[in-house]
Amino acid sequence: MRVLGIETSCDETGVALFDSEHGLLADALHSQTDLHAVYGGVVPELASRDHVRRLLPLIEQIFTEAGLRRGDVDAIAYTAGPGLIGALMVGASTAHGLARAWQVPVLGVHHMEGHLLAPMLEETRPEFPFVALLVSGGHTQLVEVRGIGCYRLLGESVDDAAGEAFDKTARMLELPYPGGPHVSRLAEQGNPERFRFPRPMTDRPGLDFSFSGLKTHTLTTLRQLQAAHGVNEQDRADVARAFEEAVIDTLVIKCRRALEQTGLTRLVAAGGVSANQRLRQRLEAALAKRGAGVWYPRGRFCTDNGAMIAYAGTQRLLAGERDPGPMRAVARWPLHELTAPLTTPAV
Ligand code: ATP
Ligand code: MG
Ligand code: FE
Repeated sequence: MRVLGIETSCDETGVALFDSEHGLLADALHSQTDLHAVYGGVVPELASRDHVRRLLPLIEQIFTEAGLRRGDVDAIAYTAGPGLIGALMVGASTAHGLARAWQVPVLGVHHMEGHLLAPMLEETRPEFPFVALLVSGGHTQLVEVRGIGCYRLLGESVDDAAGEAFDKTARMLELPYPGGPHVSRLAEQGNPERFRFPRPMTDRPGLDFSFSGLKTHTLTTLRQLQAAHGVNEQDRADVARAFEEAVIDTLVIKCRRALEQTGLTRLVAAGGVSANQRLRQRLEAALAKRGAGVWYPRGRFCTDNGAMIAYAGTQRLLAGERDPGPMRAVARWPLHELTAPLTTPAV
């Protein structure tokens, strides 16, 4: 089955063509980063309008790259939520419009299921069951995954998501949006011994996270430095390093705990923050000690993309799932509300 995937839930227009027999045929992405950078965050109305401008040309581009003619697909998958409602509606209405024109089935996909299954696009794929660490701009969750649609929430952030904490810290350090990669790059020059930031909620049992206190800690540290002697380049790097160490340490501790609690030996890390190289190294080292392994998507499939939506959609479309009626676009949609497809998809 050949599926066109469409992602427009936030500030990335992503499209891809996935073939259940031949894998990924083509994918393309337009990031709106430059459009929103001056505002320090995503402006929903600007995001929707830009998706309208970019989506159809991107779709044409991947059909050309794959050597396919328009309509040479068996089905269409699009992100139905969660996300910015106006942005979602652009992808949803385009998907339904094309499906009607091409007379093919269409299905709305859960954005976080897309992130969670993105490692399946790689050559070495994790087998079920596994624990998934979803770390993105809007989510920080640990999920026990028994199969597609069999998700049990083990823990999540009670306030800011990990990516959001990176973005807010970046802003305090006067770094551009989105902040994760910039904070990480600055942290490389930082001395990890100079400041020690707290590891929130690690001193008590449980798998929930809290990252808003770290952000306050960053602000307080910067203010103290400012009052003492002004903030120089090395100070900024040391603060970035202390912040990054604290986030990574916290994530690693909770991942280890989640594996212990479930008795599982496989971890999947996905979402934008999983692109962080130091996080990957630390997860690998910590898990190797326990005889466990970790899988993640390639760097560019950690953040939002069309390939993960095409993949997740294909698994459910193969099992016969379709949108029963009109297009769907839902801003809030908890992952654990999903259910398994009725028949097991033939991968
Ligand atoms: P969600 O998927 O929860 O709806 P989103 O789609 O906005 O949110 P993603 O696109 O998955 O999130 O990820 C973007 C986030 O990842 C941003 O917060 C960004 O700062 C962060 N990020 C990207 N690369 C890195 C990195 N190398 N280190 C840390 N954070 C990173
Ligand atoms: Mg984004
Ligand atoms: Fe995302």
